[in-house]
Amino acid sequence: MKIDKQYVLSLLEGAKNTTRNEIDRILEKAGDKKGLEHSEIAALLEISDPEQTKRLFEVAGKIKRDVYGNRVVLFAPLYISDYCVNNCVYCGYKCANRFNRRRLTMDEIRKEVEILEAMGHKRLALEAGEDPENCPIEYVLEAIKTIYDTYEKNGVIRRINVNIAATTVENYQKLKEAQIGTYILFEETYDEDVYKKMHPNCIKGDYDYHTTAFDRAMEGGIDDVGAGVLFGLANPKFEVLSLMLHNQHLEEKYGVGFHTISVPRLRPAEGVTLEKFPHLVDDDMFKKIVAIIRIAVPYTGMILSTREDENMRKELLEYGISQVSAGSCTGVGGYQESMNGENVSQFKMADERTPQQVIEDLMSKDYIPSYCTACYRTGRTGEKFMNIAKSEKIHHMCKPNALTTLMEYAVDYGDEDFIKRTEVFIKKQAESIDRDDIKKFTLDNIDKLKNGERDLYI
Ligand code: SF4
Ligand code: SF4
Repeated sequence: MKIDKQYVLSLLEGAKNTTRNEIDRILEKAGDKKGLEHSEIAALLEISDPEQTKRLFEVAGKIKRDVYGNRVVLFAPLYISDYCVNNCVYCGYKCANRFNRRRLTMDEIRKEVEILEAMGHKRLALEAGEDPENCPIEYVLEAIKTIYDTYEKNGVIRRINVNIAATTVENYQKLKEAQIGTYILFEETYDEDVYKKMHPNCIKGDYDYHTTAFDRAMEGGIDDVGAGVLFGLANPKFEVLSLMLHNQHLEEKYGVGFHTISVPRLRPAEGVTLEKFPHLVDDDMFKKIVAIIRIAVPYTGMILSTREDENMRKELLEYGISQVSAGSCTGVGGYQESMNGENVSQFKMADERTPQQVIEDLMSKDYIPSYCTACYRTGRTGEKFMNIAKSEKIHHMCKPNALTTLMEYAVDYGDEDFIKRTEVFIKKQAESIDRDDIKKFTLDNIDKLKNGERDLYI
């Protein structure tokens, strides 16, 4: 897998003189959810006119509602080790930063997980820096097992997505055997020259090894992979097109592209200020990027972290984002320690609300917070998942599952008032379920959960 830089640059050059009529035509076509040509995505990236920007958001919003309804999947990151041999210019964990590094013991991981479970989380993103000596694959595998084996009352982690450094086919096989959900790896930047400057004198500086990681993951049997670039390192238009090329490569070679795309924007961190980065993405461009990715790959989930503030998260949920983290700590041991003292986080957060606050807020805006992990546990992964998603039958699963997991959250972590309000909310939301058997499944689950049953899904 190699991004053809000249080809991407020629697309960007060719898009510069796109007419208004052409953009209208592309937006019209986008509504069919059949994907777009590279040149059409490049053209959308040139939109600057306020009217057309508004239209772009409307088209993306319609696609978002058609495919994802009003559901929002919640997850939390868990940092298990901040040892890192790399020197990524933009990261607080770079090896040039001197601080007391640590990796959690299995007991400490258990404690972190109990706290996350007590918040209601069911889905984690496991994060670790790259350090073959201090954080070898065996340690990561043991951590995964520990997390799956930790229960706090009714709390349980049902899906662990893993974000660790690019590795070998054998190690991906081991991760698959450990029953991970999605393997997540951020490309950081697809621009090879910038990539090399951002990763000086370190293992991660091997651009080819990094960009072929998903090929090895697929060969190792992992069929859900999650990509992302760190917006702010290189020309964002170049990055969006490259993401699409990478996705297409995986579709052609392995039958399935990205399961998710994350859209982190560069944030200040320990030893990282933003003045030196010439490609910072402002809010307006960032919103357009999210909308264009939504249009270009309608069935790929989009993830936003607490790097973005409450208002931005709220807006992007309307026309792009389908998963958000909630109540996050971005430092090792961060859930046990407050974010002071020795705790060094990977980046600074902009949304520090608790999961309960996020949930209340989402419900007040008519979104359904979801802790669903059903697909992964019923074997709906990879190509199989994409086929269901593209047929839009996934609606019949996502909505009842989202409402059921919300009720499960309420009975396990809410007070009486919250349980009552949630029940009213669920009954109202269930009215729009068009299949009677699925509506019944959803409504029956309310009493089943109150009577002690758990883990109900389609
Ligand atoms: Fe290490 Fe990852 Fe940070 Fe780079 S981005 S310094 S690999 S933790
Ligand atoms: Fe995700 Fe599948 Fe659950 Fe829908 S049913 S929310 S796609 S895990």
